[in-house]
Amino acid sequence: LKDFGVQNEPVLGYRAGSRERGELADELKRTSAVTEDVPIVIGDQNIKDGEPKFQVMPHNHGRKIAKFYYASEKTIQKAISVSVEAQARWDRTPYEERVRIWERAADLMAGEHRQRLNAATMLGQSKTVVQGEIDAAAELIDFFRFNVFFLKENAKYQPISENPQVTRNSMRFRGIDGFIAAISPFNFTAIGGNLAYTPALMGNGVVWKPSDTAVLSNWRIFNIMREAGLPPGVVNFVPADGPTFGKTITSSPHLAGINFTGSVPTFNWIWGAVAKNLDRYRNYPRLIGECGGKNYHFIHPTADVESVVTSTIRSAFEYCGQKCSACSRMYVPRSLYEPIKEGLVKERSKLKVGDVTDFSVFMGAVIDDKAFARITSYIKNAKNNPQNKILGGGEFDDSKGYFVQPTIIETTDPHDRLMVEEIFGPVLTMYVYEDKDLMQALSLVGSSTKFALTGAVFASDKAFLELALEELKPTAGNFYINDKSTGSVVGQQPFGGGRMSGTNDKAGGPTYVMRWTSPQSIKETF
Ligand code: GLU
Repeated sequence: LKDFGVQNEPVLGYRAGSRERGELADELKRTSAVTEDVPIVIGDQNIKDGEPKFQVMPHNHGRKIAKFYYASEKTIQKAISVSVEAQARWDRTPYEERVRIWERAADLMAGEHRQRLNAATMLGQSKTVVQGEIDAAAELIDFFRFNVFFLKENAKYQPISENPQVTRNSMRFRGIDGFIAAISPFNFTAIGGNLAYTPALMGNGVVWKPSDTAVLSNWRIFNIMREAGLPPGVVNFVPADGPTFGKTITSSPHLAGINFTGSVPTFNWIWGAVAKNLDRYRNYPRLIGECGGKNYHFIHPTADVESVVTSTIRSAFEYCGQKCSACSRMYVPRSLYEPIKEGLVKERSKLKVGDVTDFSVFMGAVIDDKAFARITSYIKNAKNNPQNKILGGGEFDDSKGYFVQPTIIETTDPHDRLMVEEIFGPVLTMYVYEDKDLMQALSLVGSSTKFALTGAVFASDKAFLELALEELKPTAGNFYINDKSTGSVVGQQPFGGGRMSGTNDKAGGPTYVMRWTSPQSIKETF
């Protein structure tokens, strides 16, 4: 193996009796015993605007684990001016110095703060221990370490042709004057860390709006960065009402970019608002976004049934299908229908749903009441529609937590809403095609949705795999062959998709960091 000098953080096993399991259990107790008061932070000032809001535990929604505040328009404007001011100083800090802060933070996340991040993510975002560990520990740490590595690599890029007697040419990669707004989602704590802190690493000032339903874990990242030595004002922690935040940032002349993960309608709104305000800006703002998917598993008649079943169950139902990459539509050939259906139904029935502090649980609750209402309305519609048949699951109950059972539906219509729209919940829909119509079925993959985030094909026929790789090229920014559509790893499978899934800037890859610089070429003549 080539040694690049950077490695993925090992994922801990949390076996009974292990040290990490004991530490996590303690931290879960500590975190769930209090309602943490989370202020808005601008520079070195704590602010508490207006009526408090609460983050509850999705699997036990009577329990509030964080109290936070929505920044008013005035407070957001203050955050903008503080980050613009801080940026001017921060951008002059040599990158070696910036890098040391990120390295220190990654070590804190991997060490003494690991279980605090895990516990906040498990309790606040209803992740199981496995899902918490791969997100709030491994992926978050990887984003920090790999982005540092990519920064150092890119900084080496210098002009290669010059006349050393007469001129010296160089390039420097500095931040963009103004501020970057980071708008992050609930579903990955690591994404919050990446959206807010990658622009900061590259010399930018940031106004960070975390998701209401991930405030606690994101607040813990913010504090780790302070502890690691990030100067005040470089990143400002600004929970806010979405529309107020959107309007305030897009009407500021200092807007230099938006780093976004969320829904298509919100990202579309952002583009529209930026277009309307273009005359005000000093820079064309960078708009980088990832906005969801309708990800597929396409099964060829030569596929290995066991691997299809295991991969599909994991992709569709881990973290309640609330990964942008989750498989939610499946194309199955008639010849494999029976064994695949039986396998899925059997494996599904074994999945335990419940309180994530019980380490044997496979799935917690969906994130909030809005998600519960949206997901269950798809299930209710499916029950009333004769072209759809529930093969397993379909039950839900929000009396204590927002619980939706993993649900498998078979449809006879490849254009049914269930096969086309993003549900963002534990609902998998299967469409069965006749083996002789393979090519027609393959063409449905790209033509039936506007998304292109992830997708997987399962086959042992090599010629088919080559053909699928070409035919399906525009349908998935992350394409998997004989593997599930989720679980990209920083540095291994840079993540992002095209079409309405986003700008495909590939978080966790070498080019992402460069989106947050405004490079300057310098020619010096002697
Ligand atoms: N990178 C994650 C995966 O591959 C998904 C990220 C997301 O949900 O945005 O599963």
